[in-house]
Amino acid sequence: MSEPGCIFCAIVAGRAPCHRVHEDERTLTFMDLFPVGKGHLLVIPKQHATSLFEVDEETLLAVARNSRVLAHALREALGPDGIGVHQLNGSAAGQTVFHYHMHLIPRNHGDPLALHGRTQGEEAELAALAAQIAAARDRVAIRSV
Ligand code: 5GP
Ligand code: ZN
Repeated sequence: MSEPGCIFCAIVAGRAPCHRVHEDERTLTFMDLFPVGKGHLLVIPKQHATSLFEVDEETLLAVARNSRVLAHALREALGPDGIGVHQLNGSAAGQTVFHYHMHLIPRNHGDPLALHGRTQGEEAELAALAAQIAAARDRVAIRSV
């Protein structure tokens, strides 16, 4: 089900642009438009749910499964020191888009522990990163099953 006015539902439907990294039956993974750092990804369910409190278990597991594979892909593609996996529920917790999603944020020692970026990513750089991470995902998927 799609929610009118929801930007992530619009992205799933192809009515709003994004730099896609991976897609399966239940989920979509794309570049965060305001990245905290290079390679910041969002894994979202295609079906609208506002938060952890609404999402069904099958969908939750599909997002978790993809988060693991994409974390391997980020490590393979970019080699960060670590990867933050974050998920915010409710405005009090910092949620700004009310369609359930998982952040995957590559981190290096010394990076500030920010959860939101302030500057919009360059289109060309986001496109290049999406292609690089997608290619790495295809390589690591074989080793992750
Ligand atoms: P939240 O604060 O809800 O956990 O995270 C929402 C994330 O969505 C933020 O990191 C923000 O940069 C990202 N975001 C907001 N609007 C768009 C958009 O239109 N496209 C993309 N790719 N990311 C978006
Ligand atoms: Zn939505």
